[in-house]
Amino acid sequence: MNIRILGAHNCESQATRFVCLLIDDTLAIDAGGLTSSLSISEQQKLKAILLTHQHYDHIRDVPAIALNLSLQGAGIEVYCTPEVRDIIETHILNGKVYPKFQELPEAKPTLSFNLITPYEPESIHGYEILAIPVNHGLTTVGYQVSNSEGKAMFYTADTGPGLLDCWQYLCPQLLIIDVTVPNSYEEFAMNTGHLTPSLLNEELIKFRELKGYLPRIIVVHMDPTLEKEIEEEVAVVAESLNTLITVAHEGMQLHI
Ligand SMILES: [Zn+2]
Ligand SMILES: [Zn+2]
Repeated sequence: MNIRILGAHNCESQATRFVCLLIDDTLAIDAGGLTSSLSISEQQKLKAILLTHQHYDHIRDVPAIALNLSLQGAGIEVYCTPEVRDIIETHILNGKVYPKFQELPEAKPTLSFNLITPYEPESIHGYEILAIPVNHGLTTVGYQVSNSEGKAMFYTADTGPGLLDCWQYLCPQLLIIDVTVPNSYEEFAMNTGHLTPSLLNEELIKFRELKGYLPRIIVVHMDPTLEKEIEEEVAVVAESLNTLITVAHEGMQLHI
């Protein structure tokens, strides 16, 4: 399984993009930096987008890719919870902000929404997808994506602490996890449903106690203005756990 980090941050700038992952060039998870990272022909190769929650930085490029694909006569499947679909249909693809690509063209709409049910594994284009609720203050799911060779990655989406319940459902070789701010912002992280390096440390200790191992860990959703501090503190966590933890960057390629 090849994973490309298209967007690794919580803020967009010339150098940073909103969170977005690409699996084997066919499956996208979250649509932050999706269209801004892929050529039109790469966008046409996509078969499905999995959305974790409705925050703008995670759904931003859904209308953008819908327009691009509709002009090419192509289409794409979007998997999400009913909450996310309703928000997109009511506030974005509503015929006022942008066309209703979920209804147009009538013969075969560009976007087809498919609702996911947490804890129920689903087969999507040859992958087993498992959506697991995380702690972000509003309905948010992380996704475990497994292929037929038994390789699995889990992306937590935006989440605060308290992931012990999640860990019992998962067995990933790769964990892509939210660390938005450094340790000095712990109160902010707790209030907004995100992790700091020290909160990450506690979650990983519980993972290892429960599962008996630690997967390879990639940290995403950093605030770019605080990234140096995050990187230094993540290195301390990696050393204390004696494991590999890498801070993601746009264009990073991973293989499991
Ligand atoms: Zn969020
Ligand atoms: Zn976010």
